[in-house]
Amino acid sequence: MALPKHAYFRGKIVPYSEARVGVATHALNYGTSIFGGMRGYWNEEEQQMFLFRPYDHFRRLLNSAKMMLMDLGHTPESLTEVTKELLRTEGYKEDVYIRPLAFKASEVIGVRLHNLEDDITIFCVPFGTYVSNDTNAHCTVSSWRRIDDNMIPARGKIGGAYVNSAFIKTDAMRAGFDEALVLTEDGHVSEGSAENVFMVRDGVLITPPVTDNILEGITRRTVMQLARDELGIEVVERHIDRTELYICDELFLTGTAAQITAVTKVDHRPVGTGEMGPITTKLREIFNKVVRGKMPKYRDWNVPVY
Ligand code: PMP
Repeated sequence: MALPKHAYFRGKIVPYSEARVGVATHALNYGTSIFGGMRGYWNEEEQQMFLFRPYDHFRRLLNSAKMMLMDLGHTPESLTEVTKELLRTEGYKEDVYIRPLAFKASEVIGVRLHNLEDDITIFCVPFGTYVSNDTNAHCTVSSWRRIDDNMIPARGKIGGAYVNSAFIKTDAMRAGFDEALVLTEDGHVSEGSAENVFMVRDGVLITPPVTDNILEGITRRTVMQLARDELGIEVVERHIDRTELYICDELFLTGTAAQITAVTKVDHRPVGTGEMGPITTKLREIFNKVVRGKMPKYRDWNVPVY
């Protein structure tokens, strides 16, 4: 990954080399950080970069902050302005990934959430696809379980909680899979290591409810709306059993990084025909237009940078 040239750090935009923390920083020792991940899409015809749903991403970040007793002194609007300014400083004319990261910044020993200073930084890097086989991914079901909301808030994007995702992803990849789906403690399908999951059965799009320890994905919400409004498909939120993954007609992952990644094999069993299905194909086409500002109906989701 190419390093950023600048970062937003301690209230201003600085050269990336100056965005540094000390080794005693609380978040580095105890995982007490929260983060976001959003994309900026370059639109060649308009010579414009569009942030995709930044206000929704920052609203989720501030909800994570609230759970972690962080006061960042920012609103979704102020954070969006900072992000635009940072991107203009970097001058990117290609697709980018934007990482806001808030953290317990005090340099002290002691596990807790209270009586600590908070800080927020933002950096951006050029970014393409995340799951390499995004039209034909092979997934397994992880032997790890997804963190439960009563252990670490599952709907928060909390640094320390991503150790769970790291175990899931590495074990899957070392076993030769592209990604893994992970189950809740009671054995229902929750999500991927960094993606939400959808399956198609008999023409109905099904995804686990927000109470199954998922991260409440912005891409998930986008896909649910596009499926209903553009394709007229019924979308249902309900528990998914592991073996439904083996017999469903289509399966795909959604996320800012993964976008819409088709899963065509689960634990060596073909999904449907074993090739990306028609609903996944159509949703990917629509999604790719929407994120680049090419569907006027959804232009509210595209925030211009330049
Ligand atoms: N689940 C997890 C665990 C994630 O890290 C992500 C990526 N942020 C998602 C789901 C997808 O969320 P979004 O569509 O908002 O990127």
